Amino acid sequence: MPINSLSNKISTIFTTMFKTVGKQADHKRLTNYIITIHQKESTEEILSELSHCLKNILNYRLFAFVIQQKSNLDIWLDPRTYKESLEKAVIEDFSVKDKAKLNYLNYTFSPEHSENEEQKFNMEDITSYEIKEDDYFARVYILTNKGLLDFHDDEIDMILKTTQTAISRQLGMKKLFDAAAIDPLTMCYNRREFKAQLERNISNTLRHKKELSIFMFDLDHFKKINDTYGHQAGDLVLQKVSSLVKNNIRTADFLARYGGEEFIVILPETNKQKAMELANRIRENVSNTRIKLNTGKEIRVTASFGVASLGEGSSDMNQLIHDADTMMYKAKLNGRNTVMPGLIKVCPSIDSKKTVKN
Ligand code: GH3
Ligand code: MG
Ligand code: MG
Repeated sequence: MPINSLSNKISTIFTTMFKTVGKQADHKRLTNYIITIHQKESTEEILSELSHCLKNILNYRLFAFVIQQKSNLDIWLDPRTYKESLEKAVIEDFSVKDKAKLNYLNYTFSPEHSENEEQKFNMEDITSYEIKEDDYFARVYILTNKGLLDFHDDEIDMILKTTQTAISRQLGMKKLFDAAAIDPLTMCYNRREFKAQLERNISNTLRHKKELSIFMFDLDHFKKINDTYGHQAGDLVLQKVSSLVKNNIRTADFLARYGGEEFIVILPETNKQKAMELANRIRENVSNTRIKLNTGKEIRVTASFGVASLGEGSSDMNQLIHDADTMMYKAKLNGRNTVMPGLIKVCPSIDSKKTVKN
């Protein structure tokens, strides 16, 4: 869900909620926390934000957050907390047999501050909540200074649901990284995953007698961007272009980074004509987009596209990729910023200058 509509949705829920409890002042702060949690990119960051949120909105202290995946336990511990005091509870709650399985996400044990800190709370004042997902189980330990207040239930519920969603997404991404399926720079699938997906899509297409197209594109004169503005600027361009493409394809389509500045898209149930139209729309979009570099300078890039479809002489994966690659090469020869094969019938919305005949 885009952040704006997420923000509106959360605002509506909270407006209703805070009206009843007369705490509208917290409305905006809680909304902001929830959005920030969704934007965090690591489990540690998500939990650190959750901790601030609980402290600032409810005056509760996130004591610890324990995530169990298979036999591993990741523990986020309030940095002010004495480790031993919680460890006992975790070992009991999760029936831990081997202490070496406990992995502290954010904690560096410092014996000096521990004894005093430990006296500041009582284990009986700790309330715990459970989060159950298909591939992990988590327990949240919260220290409620003055006991739990009834009207806080909705807020806790909302905060923890947000955390659950954010962590699930994070762990899902981590799994893909671990399986080496995602390119870390652009967050697109990588070439290996692309091939696996294309194999799957081709056999599916043949079995159900459907259509399938792919298109490949390569950024034009990309070396010049690196040479002129630096490698970091080049990286940023790759990120911007890939996210633009992601936003212009359907959920069922599949974008991968095929190599340096070369990408490839699988379009299930799509014929050649539709694939060419889409490629051309994306080509136009890329060339019309101003990319703002860190220096503030705005630049534009273009790309050359090659489209190929299953069944037109390409009955297997390698042939299909080869066809798209050949077409992309033709697009380069045809002056770049072009889709090949070109659209025969020119749509009025399409930039005719760049629509090249086969
Ligand atoms: P053409 O229009 O013919 O495609 O020209 P080009 O300059 O885009 O092609 P060339 O193959 O000469 O150069 C590609 C450049 O892309 C060279 C390489 O350093 C750069 N590149 C590849 N991967 C990355 C990357 O991850 N980050 C950055 N910044 N540059 C990359
Ligand atoms: Mg290039
Ligand atoms: Mg290239």
